[in-house]
Amino acid sequence: MLGKLLVIGFGPGSFEHMTNRALTAIQESHCIIGYKTYVDLISDLLTDQEIISTGMSEEVSRAQAAVKLAEEGKTVAVISSGDAGVYGMAGLVYEVLIEKGWTEETGVSVEVVPGVSASNSCASLLGAPIMHDSCTISLSDHLTPWKLIEKRIEAAAQADFVISLYNPKSGRRTRQIQEAQRILLTYRSPNTPVGLVKSAYRERQHIVITDLENMLDHDIGMLTTVVIGNSSTFLYDNKLITPRGYQRKYTLDKTEQRLKPHERLRHENEPWALHQGKKEDEQIQKKSQTRKAEAVPASKVSEPMETSLDLALEALSLVAGENAGARANEGQKKNEIYNPVVSVFELAISPGVVNKHFTPKQMITLAEVVGNDGTMEYTPHHQIHLRIPTAEPEMITGRLKDAGFLIEPIGDVFQLKACDFCDGEKKDSIPQAEEINKRLSGLELPKELKVGFNGCGMACYGAVNDDIGVIFRKGKFDLFLGAKTVGRTAHAGQPVAEGIEPDKIVPLIEEIISDYKEKGHPNERFFKYFKRVGKVLDYTYKDMTPKIEIEPAPCGD
Ligand code: SF4
Repeated sequence: MLGKLLVIGFGPGSFEHMTNRALTAIQESHCIIGYKTYVDLISDLLTDQEIISTGMSEEVSRAQAAVKLAEEGKTVAVISSGDAGVYGMAGLVYEVLIEKGWTEETGVSVEVVPGVSASNSCASLLGAPIMHDSCTISLSDHLTPWKLIEKRIEAAAQADFVISLYNPKSGRRTRQIQEAQRILLTYRSPNTPVGLVKSAYRERQHIVITDLENMLDHDIGMLTTVVIGNSSTFLYDNKLITPRGYQRKYTLDKTEQRLKPHERLRHENEPWALHQGKKEDEQIQKKSQTRKAEAVPASKVSEPMETSLDLALEALSLVAGENAGARANEGQKKNEIYNPVVSVFELAISPGVVNKHFTPKQMITLAEVVGNDGTMEYTPHHQIHLRIPTAEPEMITGRLKDAGFLIEPIGDVFQLKACDFCDGEKKDSIPQAEEINKRLSGLELPKELKVGFNGCGMACYGAVNDDIGVIFRKGKFDLFLGAKTVGRTAHAGQPVAEGIEPDKIVPLIEEIISDYKEKGHPNERFFKYFKRVGKVLDYTYKDMTPKIEIEPAPCGD
């Protein structure tokens, strides 16, 4: 009868962080084989098992002994701390078995019992540093050529991985961690957050939060795991946090999100993705343009090769905007952390409240700030919506303001839709339109709300069809409330007042809006609100729905 090999990772060392299977596997074993320190760590779990514990660098003899005992019919536990399959004994046990011609079908049975590896246990004590792509690198060059380790450190540093360094230093190996720091500093800011965790979840647990530049000033030994943040990792209240990227789509301090669930996976909302925010046909077009642009002219062949740092900065520029690479480089020189957080900046622009004319210069500015990766959408509401991936929204708004654009937020906000007052010729009510816009533009509301403002009784810009309509006529204002602006049962607003004095219209609109903001339900359009409450200020609701039979529409009404 052949026995069984249980290759067990028992996690960091405390019993509560050991898996239940690790516990039962230890209990069902006849023999326990492990490095002495590890056997001591689990000694309280042992009963009458035979113990074979040996010292450092005796792994091969332990694996051979385990295989031999299993072949004699025993159930043998080969124990490692952390995970048996991560720098543990699992690989070596298989290698020894393979040398003996083992197969799963004919040989001893093998079970690898996973455990919590040091990078995970240490990360949990440091905060949340491994929230994004990460790697582990062992600095032990006893079995691995240093040149290979060096190459891996460089590649990981260049690729912006969060890095967990295992076996960073021992009595004899002291230079490796210095070399690792030197390489990392070539690619990362000296202020990159670093966590040093010694003996995680054991009695002598010790945690240090430091940075890449100063990490060697602290005690680092064989039992230390060094966790190095990526370019986005930040420190908060002594915790290392690496953002996953949620800021690109979500506003974390608001419950209402700018993107509705069904919009979150749309191409245009992911300009950083492989598709670059473009639909399939646009992608094909862009690819062929890129290929043409990439054809290398003969004169370029002799140019010196770019360094890996140049490539990293170029890549950063591609994802974070034109100046990001340069700023990261500058930040490095100044020993500053540069953590660009690229998100899609959404805003609406128009030439003005009254003005409806764009200048060529404005169009050029618009094209420049939107760039190849942003989008411009012409809307039916006198605005162009811009969606621009950027780490610098202030730079965008600054340039648009300098070009004379009116900038407004997008979403469930107040918007004034004024006519052009016959290109400014019928200008008597322009001051009121501008004042309403000044006081209320961009105000957050239960649902988007548009006030149509027309400068004469012709109302050619359709103010009566907006949520609230304001029409200047014979030196005074008429007011319409509760148009149903969408759907097949859309209807004009209810005429609720005529002859409102010019000095009364602005405060009146403010009062109506404030009433709706306070009492409207989330997502409740103004016409529904008016219908539900029955009265807004002194204006009583009247049903304006067309009295005709209309079959329900397949979606919405
Ligand atoms: S609503 Fe009257 S003032 Fe405004 S653009 Fe039309 S005609 Fe001119």
